[in-house]
Amino acid sequence: MSGNAQESCSALPLPQGSVIGILGGGQLGRMSAIAASLLGYRVVVLSSDPDDPAVAVSHKHICAEVEDRKALAELAELADIVTYEREQLPLASVTWLSERVAVAPNCLALEVAQDRIREKSFFGSSGIPTVPWRPVTSRSEIIAAAADVGRPAIFKVAYGGYDGKGQATIEVGDTDEALFALWDRFSNGAEMMAIVERKVAFDCELSVIVARDRQGKMVTYDPSLNDHKNHILDTSTVPAPVGEKQLNDAGTMVCKIAEGLDYVGVLCLELFLMPSGELLANEIAPRPHNSGHWTIDACYTDQFEQLIRAIAGLPLGDSSRFSDVCMKNIIGSDAEDISPYLNAPNAKLHLYGKQDIRPGRKMGHVTYLGSNDPAGMAEANSLAPMNRRSYE
Ligand code: ADP
Ligand code: MG
Repeated sequence: MSGNAQESCSALPLPQGSVIGILGGGQLGRMSAIAASLLGYRVVVLSSDPDDPAVAVSHKHICAEVEDRKALAELAELADIVTYEREQLPLASVTWLSERVAVAPNCLALEVAQDRIREKSFFGSSGIPTVPWRPVTSRSEIIAAAADVGRPAIFKVAYGGYDGKGQATIEVGDTDEALFALWDRFSNGAEMMAIVERKVAFDCELSVIVARDRQGKMVTYDPSLNDHKNHILDTSTVPAPVGEKQLNDAGTMVCKIAEGLDYVGVLCLELFLMPSGELLANEIAPRPHNSGHWTIDACYTDQFEQLIRAIAGLPLGDSSRFSDVCMKNIIGSDAEDISPYLNAPNAKLHLYGKQDIRPGRKMGHVTYLGSNDPAGMAEANSLAPMNRRSYE
């Protein structure tokens, strides 16, 4: 249905002063709204909290839950085109909205990205390699699924997981009872879908971002090396210390996915680099991604501007990188003292305007630019050790 509304979208490219709607009010919405504003657009955000990071930089806030049809109707009325900044959205709401106003990326992309079973099946049918995995659609299937993929394995709920939430490791020695208990803990008696996948010893994690416009033109960004702490992204470093082949393969894979979804917008693919040099697809995000925040300071056109250009029918910008870079997330109490970020040479600080510091909360990020300044890059390098296997 979204296709119909997209075709009936107001004249493209969207003229100056047009209104871009954003579902969700987090930091990704905030940075998208800033990019929209720089291109002369106005932004209306639909989210449930007036203190949300995106609200402060938008022209209008519809304060409501995403399920609220009256609020969605108002958004459809006000906006010329709508995008979303997270995939944990009720598909029914977005589909309903897409029948009234153009929504990009389309509902198919959202549907695939928010359901790990559909996502992994889509990778398979597109010829994109993944770790061995099995769907688990009922409690009784979990034992066989773990046996099929081999242990240790990782159990992941199909819907709603993020930052490692909704996941647990299945150890080699876990009993059948332990696996059933795992299912019961996550399902809490309700219906649930999940997957079990082999836990692999990858060399490192990479991600790659593509922007695709309405004519199907695509530009990719340099893949980043991603390090996590407590299941939350800690640093993204570019260039990633991998060979040309891996860089090319990553770009080819993400473009194939974007084409397969008839995607318009910015899409991120998370990858595992295996000791063999093979890249395995882990998951996609149908939106700008935390591992692409470095593009704001190190590329001619960053991922947020690219999103706005793509959905507004403007030509995509140059995604070239003009500096080596390391992005570090500022999580929880890291935000208590910002002076190190302000004082570090070549550091560019981005705060999201969140009032309460809570453990695990993404408060901002800092980008360390360039290799000319030893202090800045020394810190960046110490944050993201480069002692990786080299594929050159
Ligand atoms: P999300 O980011 O939605 O929480 P992911 O599937 O990306 O879920 O998993 C979070 C992290 O857990 C990954 O970035 C990776 O570090 C680790 N992980 C996920 N799947 C596997 C796997 N099959 N083998 C080893 N590590 C994994
Ligand atoms: Mg992930």
